[in-house]
Amino acid sequence: MPGETAATPIRTTVTLSVPNRGRGRSEPERPEIESKTARARLGTAETVLLEERRLLTTAELAALAELPDQWVTSLAALAHQVRLAWCGPEVEVEGILSAKTGGCPEDCHFCSQSSRFDTPVKATPFLDADEVLAAAEETRAAGASEFCIVLAVRGPDERTMVRILELVPMIHGRTGLNVAVSAGLLTDDQARRFAEGGVHRYNHNLETSRSFFPNVVTTHTWEERQDTCLLVRTHGMELCCGALIGMGETDAQRIELLGQLQELDPTEVPLNFLNPRPGTPLGDAQPVAAWEAIRWIALFRLGLPGVILRYAGGREVTLRELQSMGMTSGINALIVGNYLTTLGRSPEEDLQMLSDLRMPVGALTGIL
Ligand code: SF4
Repeated sequence: MPGETAATPIRTTVTLSVPNRGRGRSEPERPEIESKTARARLGTAETVLLEERRLLTTAELAALAELPDQWVTSLAALAHQVRLAWCGPEVEVEGILSAKTGGCPEDCHFCSQSSRFDTPVKATPFLDADEVLAAAEETRAAGASEFCIVLAVRGPDERTMVRILELVPMIHGRTGLNVAVSAGLLTDDQARRFAEGGVHRYNHNLETSRSFFPNVVTTHTWEERQDTCLLVRTHGMELCCGALIGMGETDAQRIELLGQLQELDPTEVPLNFLNPRPGTPLGDAQPVAAWEAIRWIALFRLGLPGVILRYAGGREVTLRELQSMGMTSGINALIVGNYLTTLGRSPEEDLQMLSDLRMPVGALTGIL
């Protein structure tokens, strides 16, 4: 109004102490690289993936992995373009159910379900059919297109085989969801029976590279895991083969794992970040830094351009506010709801994130 003087705004500067987690042990010092060199490496990757449409070699991936932090946004942007070009815009949503938790005889150092460590996770028996069906229906109502039954076992015994083979057609018939199973190491005959019994996708994670694996598991070998993955492919099931980042492996070992995954050619790769579980040998490890996690999401997409790259365990504790950035750095699938032994955020929050990002949910968009 004329004659009125505007009030002078008072500015206060507050210095907040921001938690500085420093460099985790999974975050190495990287060499100085000139901008010209960084741009050339990214340009080569773009030509290879978007024009030649071949896979990057592990040497090309290693050259990208050493780009300095300020190039992570460029890596992420390229990874997003590669995801759109190779996989399309849809995001696949999956729910998982731990049908038998804890009490596993194996000694995977990252896992709170091992009976060898004193963790808060207590062994539970196989859930009954009604509980599994109820969870599958809930998952479908949350917008998922896939449901995965997970058991903490070295491999399925005959009783477990029979239970799973009863449940799979029941769940598919009742909900229409594709059913995936994760039940450890398989024999040739078990893989054949699962395939014939309607298991759409079988999950068996390599977790880490062949050279690092003996540091974190001693009760079975990396090669045994690889054999099960090969049997899944041989019998015609889709292979879901995940990775766990942040156990102390080096950049070179992550690249080695990418090369090993390229050879296995899985349909899906769940990307887990270590969420250190109390009581396990890795309970005091430091989570991967958020920016480093974005770098590796992008590198996994650039190394595995056509896979379903799924956000799996540890994303909340690792990425915090950067979870939506992961979706534009190469991720194209989510596990909604809770993980096997840790809580995830609500399916509604994830579906809101996808809606904010204008990313359509594949297969079941109609029911959202
Ligand atoms: S990762 Fe699997 S095999 Fe290893 S201890 Fe956990 S449940 Fe058992």
